[in-house]
Amino acid sequence: MSDCCCCSSNKPLFRGSESIPADAIVLFDGKDFSGWVKREDRNAPAEWKVENGYVEVVPGTGDVCTKELFTDCQVHIEFWLPHMPDAKGQARANSGVYLQGRYEVQVLDSYGLDSQHNDCGGIYRTKAPMVNACRPPEEWQSYDIFFIAPRFNECGVKIACARISVLHNGVWIHHDLEIHEPTGGEIDHNFAEPGPLMLQDHGNKIRYRNIWARKL
Ligand code: MG
Repeated sequence: MSDCCCCSSNKPLFRGSESIPADAIVLFDGKDFSGWVKREDRNAPAEWKVENGYVEVVPGTGDVCTKELFTDCQVHIEFWLPHMPDAKGQARANSGVYLQGRYEVQVLDSYGLDSQHNDCGGIYRTKAPMVNACRPPEEWQSYDIFFIAPRFNECGVKIACARISVLHNGVWIHHDLEIHEPTGGEIDHNFAEPGPLMLQDHGNKIRYRNIWARKL
């Protein structure tokens, strides 16, 4: 858990991201976080700290959202969790990746645990990952997420739930999972509308890097 070379290098973890797909939208390249705004004021720039090729949560500045809005999409994102041995449960390096601003893939230090829905890789309040694929804190990890937005008819009635597949550190942890409801902490209740990719400020100094998405 030392501050080793892998923490300072900006080399992407996931082999597939070493050449980012031609149709990907680069949401964070290690330097430019200008595509992100505050959740509470979408006209205000995000206040998280960019340094050394990553962006770090500044606790208390709030969740951050992409200006770009998405429905069906593929997302690649890498994250780094601080070692917090005195913290327990949901207080141990908590953040989250929200698809469409409404469906959270939990980010947490759950290394070595029997994973529940609210552990790392869980779809919050919905389903635990198939397997715990966590690395220890202070190592870079990745999510590759394949998200299908819910569908609504002309009357605004939902006719299909959101669906998600997730790879955690290259390990398949959710396969075409139906998500029946937003998972809590969602940005709004306009469920038929496109939404941003949102990252959660849960009060811990989580780092992110190499964030890109494809609209499907
Ligand atoms: Mg969270």
